[in-house]
Amino acid sequence: MAQAAEPTNPEHPDIENLLTEDRRFPPDPEFAAQANVHPEVYSWAAADRLGFWADQARELITWSTPFSEVLDWSGAPVARWFGDGKLNAAYNAVDRHVEAGNGDRVALHFEGEPGDSRAITYAELQREVSRAANALTELGVGTGDRVAIYMPLVPEAVVAMLACARIGAPHSVVFGGFSAEALHSRILDAEAKLVITADGGYRRGSASALKPAVDEALEKGAPTIEHVLVVRRTGQDVAWTEGRDVWWHDVVDSASDTHAPVEVESEHPLFILYTSGTTGKPKGIFHTTGGYLTQTAFTHRAVFDLKPETDVYWCTADIGWVTGHSYVVYGPLVNGATQVIYEGTPDTPDKGRWWSVVEKYKVSILYTAPTAIRTCMKWGEEIPAAHDLSSIRLLGSVGESINPAAWTWYRRVIGGDKAPIVDTWWQTETGAIMISPLPGVTTAKPGSAQVPLPGIAADVLDDDAQPVPNGSGGYLVLTEPWPAMLRGIWGDEERFRDTYWSRFPGRYFAGDGAKKDEDGDIWLLGRVDDVMNVSGHRLSTTEIESALVSHPIVAEAAVVGANDETTGQAVVAFVILRTEEGDAAQASGMDVQAELRTHVAKEIGPIAKPRRILVVQELPKTRSGKIMRRLLRDVAEHRVVGDATTLADSSVMDLITAGLNTPS
Ligand code: ATP
Ligand code: MG
Repeated sequence: MAQAAEPTNPEHPDIENLLTEDRRFPPDPEFAAQANVHPEVYSWAAADRLGFWADQARELITWSTPFSEVLDWSGAPVARWFGDGKLNAAYNAVDRHVEAGNGDRVALHFEGEPGDSRAITYAELQREVSRAANALTELGVGTGDRVAIYMPLVPEAVVAMLACARIGAPHSVVFGGFSAEALHSRILDAEAKLVITADGGYRRGSASALKPAVDEALEKGAPTIEHVLVVRRTGQDVAWTEGRDVWWHDVVDSASDTHAPVEVESEHPLFILYTSGTTGKPKGIFHTTGGYLTQTAFTHRAVFDLKPETDVYWCTADIGWVTGHSYVVYGPLVNGATQVIYEGTPDTPDKGRWWSVVEKYKVSILYTAPTAIRTCMKWGEEIPAAHDLSSIRLLGSVGESINPAAWTWYRRVIGGDKAPIVDTWWQTETGAIMISPLPGVTTAKPGSAQVPLPGIAADVLDDDAQPVPNGSGGYLVLTEPWPAMLRGIWGDEERFRDTYWSRFPGRYFAGDGAKKDEDGDIWLLGRVDDVMNVSGHRLSTTEIESALVSHPIVAEAAVVGANDETTGQAVVAFVILRTEEGDAAQASGMDVQAELRTHVAKEIGPIAKPRRILVVQELPKTRSGKIMRRLLRDVAEHRVVGDATTLADSSVMDLITAGLNTPS
């Protein structure tokens, strides 16, 4: 936050925005004619925000006890939504679809990395979740107890989450790739009673063990854990602690397949989820039931235009991060969707795997992250072109700003030059999508998340907490409470207030920089902590990265500001070249550094020209695919690299540091 508190040079706006992107993609009339939402939804929600959300809650969610009160904000910043209502999340995600006669609809098409697959209908899911709920109860887990889930992306992971929800035991999913250390600290923080895990999962063509990390975590001391429930996925040998460890197939398969869902209050905690840790120590964000389900269901239906009878939806996120919670488990299942879940990596056994999954299941809605799109750009468009992707009718993006070059590639190569793209801005904390174009309604602008959804109030403020005029940049805030908002940081109310509510009292500070364009549409500019200050100009990481990625030889870019005696900070860029184009450029003797520096100067202006450009093979990313710029800043400033425990691949930093010290 140091940047945020600094006085700004009055001659310069809070964050200067320099990149101009003026391509426009109006909605296709055919798409618009069949879209789930119409433009009037904005004025309806604006006229009666709470009435709008109450209607969504009644329409999309089944309440065992109806609510009468919509929002109670008297305990701000902790909201109560639909406070006197009662419901069960698993009942909403599963049982009611069976009761409505849709038990034979496939809920999950599971694709294992080795090529095994299973289709699970809603009726089967109901029986499996009921068995698991009975088994959890048998193991002593009660309503309110916390359960840690540390699993590969297999159907049992979804079943485990729903079984917890069914008995009212908040789950805390820890990404299966995290270390024993990370798992341990999360188990302690949530005081979990049970860990659900698997012997292992498949990644990059081989069985990768999970259970040893659980054993190691528990050896460090975890007094609240009573049992470890283990799914057999790979069949690999596992160490066993008698009395503590229990096989899933022993206790779940034999349990009764009927179970009465536990009715909980709307504000009953549904889950705790630790943020991906891009900026610092992970925070245990906790979410409750009624408001969260309402907003995830509404946004999933409106933003992805879901038609549950005909669409095949695929969100590539792991359940270990919030997108997997809101847009693999709760949103789609509450809406009765048919979806694909895929266990493995996109390049196993080859770089066409994702596209063969799309072709095999006729995926119609695909939701993924810019990092994945840029990786596919790097590999070359002939790979997706070799598959039939004609089933795709809508594309989504989440996790970072999508660079305009990646946006247009995504639409052209994956979306057949036709599919609308929804660039969805939200956070673990917001629980559900907050800012996004609506398909069939919004004229899309590549690189912009554009408009707050109906019922959502956002703004961009300057240092003095005043809304910036159109055309200027500042800090993104949410100005009204929303149904899926976090209810706190688990066990740390002070950190909750400090982190989100102190910078602009009464408003939620997201930590992201943003600008409003001439139409008032919102463009995300990157983390406020990452904003660079070069000779008094505050520059956005996103814009310079987008300029770099718009060069035909660049696949990915990350920029940071490194201390500089003359300019305050200097822009240092790390770039990954596209495989074919990059090789050709280097073979032709192109001075890549000079070429890219000139390119940035041309696209943005000389002030944004990187001082140094380093060509690297990989960038440090979190498991959810976000670039960890703070580690690159350490490298650029020749410091010891900081906490890298949430990195997807911790050897990346060694490679980058080694590369940096080798003269090129
Ligand atoms: P931590 O808070 O621990 O640093 P994190 O912020 O990476 O972790 P998430 O909650 O997964 O964890 O990420 C939310 C952030 O991702 C947003 O604050 C924003 O910076 C970025 N983001 C997500 N979607 C978009 C988008 N469509 N455009 C731009 N940025 C986005
Ligand atoms: Mg965050």
